[in-house]
Amino acid sequence: MATTKRIEERIAAMARELAEEELGDVDDSNALSWLDAVETRAVEISDMIAAEMVRQKAATRPAEEDESICPQCGKLGRYQGQHERPLITRRGPTTITEPKYYCPCCRKDFFPDDQGDRC
Ligand SMILES: [Zn+2]
Repeated sequence: MATTKRIEERIAAMARELAEEELGDVDDSNALSWLDAVETRAVEISDMIAAEMVRQKAATRPAEEDESICPQCGKLGRYQGQHERPLITRRGPTTITEPKYYCPCCRKDFFPDDQGDRC
């Protein structure tokens, strides 16, 4: 991937800054070792970064259409505005903003990004 080197450099700079600020006095009293405690805290921070990246990317999605196809019945649903919801990502919890539609046929709200899971 062409961007790998660039991403590695950015991650190294960010990791250096976070390590200085967040790993200075890691509590290792309940860890297997000091290194184990450092790794545990680093994993917690990386999970927070991943969840925040998902939240920010979801917030920058382009404006939605006035209508969207209901994944349950296939009829058109009307845009109801943006909806905030908590989301459990693979790396931890976050809150995203997503478009909500209402299907008059099913009489339910639906969220196109869910591919019909909640309709
Ligand atoms: Zn429907």
